[in-house]
Amino acid sequence: MTTHSSSLDIALHEMLRKTAASERTRTLKTHSNNGVYVQHGGTEYLSFCSNDYLGIAQTLLSAPDLPIGSGASRLLTGNHPLYAEVEKTLATMKGTQAALLFGSGYLANIGTIPVLVGKDDVVLMDKASHACMIDGVRLSGAAWYRFRHNDMAHLEQLLAKHRDKHTRCLILTETVFSMAGDRAPLADIATLAETHDAWLMTDDAHGFGLPVDAPNPAHIQMGTLSKAAGCYGGYVCGSQALIDTLINHASPLIFSTALPPSLLQSIMDALELMQDEPERATQVMALATRLTDALDLPKAQSAIIPIILGDNEAALQMQNTLKRQGILVSAIRPPTVPEGTARLRISVSAHHRQADVDRLVEALKPIGDVVAA
Ligand SMILES: *Cc1c(COP(=O)(O)O)cnc(C)c1O
Repeated sequence: MTTHSSSLDIALHEMLRKTAASERTRTLKTHSNNGVYVQHGGTEYLSFCSNDYLGIAQTLLSAPDLPIGSGASRLLTGNHPLYAEVEKTLATMKGTQAALLFGSGYLANIGTIPVLVGKDDVVLMDKASHACMIDGVRLSGAAWYRFRHNDMAHLEQLLAKHRDKHTRCLILTETVFSMAGDRAPLADIATLAETHDAWLMTDDAHGFGLPVDAPNPAHIQMGTLSKAAGCYGGYVCGSQALIDTLINHASPLIFSTALPPSLLQSIMDALELMQDEPERATQVMALATRLTDALDLPKAQSAIIPIILGDNEAALQMQNTLKRQGILVSAIRPPTVPEGTARLRISVSAHHRQADVDRLVEALKPIGDVVAA
């Protein structure tokens, strides 16, 4: 029998009431997912909401007879031989000495940042950075300041003001920003980091698997296997010393169970697909560019294309209008994005056909004026 705690009930209902009052209630909806077509409530929708940019998530496992569980932490007996294989492949793909898998991208961030910095240190972070980097920084106890999105002059100001008051300095940014689809000026950030003796860590959650112009100069390259790689799990790539330090100090690696061997095999399969079929990445960028060209938007820099509408209500209305036409696009509102920048977030996948993108363009035509404004 469970004990009835009325103070808990009261507290929970109070929290829910406050969330509802700010119109920010989130609910879980069931979708059966079939790549770019998604079934929900008996209807089939064409989806532009997935992070499965390369169309890999629906791939079937090559070795389905692997165990479903690992049984222990990696430091005990959970370190299946596939770990070494996956980590070697990731390091090769990233051009780093070594790599380390984590349970998820979220765990990689909250596990790594507190190992690198602590209460005597300072973190400077792009304002558009993901919530799990903020959580990692909070856990670390370091002082932290945010620079305006991709604003190098502001980053330089913050470095001049705060760097010397602290022992270590860590700069955090994303390679491709999750809600805007644009890229960070990594070469410029790396130069500033060098000048001010700061370390650079990037979150490549939305960049991994897409074509890049130049190698990533970051000392610490974190990412996830849950987006373009279509699986689950997170990673950090960098020097052997970085990886050895994380093995010794990163709590989510030490105190959490190793990934199941079956998942490690999925990751291996996905990484092989990414390397063997580079046309997936070319295809998704061609579709993204087709979309931005047709809508007269700035040229796509990734698989994510935002249409900024500003007003929360306008974004929701557009989401609903598209839904009535059988198309799913996410409306993203504050606090996920800054106040006054509510938007539609379109993500394309290599599994979309040109005709799918053209259908979305047609459906978006009525907001052409808003987009141009
Ligand atoms: C999704 C995401 C993460 C978390 O990755 P998971 O593997 O899904 O936990 C981290 N950072 C960014 C920028 C993300 O978009």
